[in-house]
Amino acid sequence: MTTPPEKDCVVCGRTITWRKKWARSWDEVRYCSDACRKRGIQPVDQELETAIMNLLAQRPRNATIYPDDAAQLVCGEDWERVSEPARAAARRLCVEGRVVITQEGRRVDPSTAKGPFRIGLT
Ligand SMILES: [Zn+2]
Repeated sequence: MTTPPEKDCVVCGRTITWRKKWARSWDEVRYCSDACRKRGIQPVDQELETAIMNLLAQRPRNATIYPDDAAQLVCGEDWERVSEPARAAARRLCVEGRVVITQEGRRVDPSTAKGPFRIGLT
C-alpha cells in the first residue's frame, strides 16, 4: 500500500502524520490533534494572518518579521496571549505558499522548526 499524500493541519499548519486509524477517512482529516480540532480557526487567527501580510508589505523587499510583530499589532500589550497563534498563522501562510519561514537566514520547514523563526515573502 502506498502512503497517502501529506496534508497540513488547517489550524496549526503543521504536517499531519498519517495514522492507520485514518486509513478509511484520510480525505476528511483536517486537524493534527484534538487540541487543534477544539480550538478551530478564530477571528483573531485571521487578523494575525492579515497582520503578517500587512507588515511584510510595509517593509522593504527581502525584509523579515517575527510572528510576535504581528501578535503585537493585533493585541498590543496583550501580545503574549497570541504568540503561539501568530506562529500558527505564519505556518498556515507558509502552507499556502504566501510566505517563507526562515531561521538564521535559511528556509526551514515550519512544521518541524524549533525555536524562534522569522517570516518573509516568497
Ligand atoms: Zn494542528
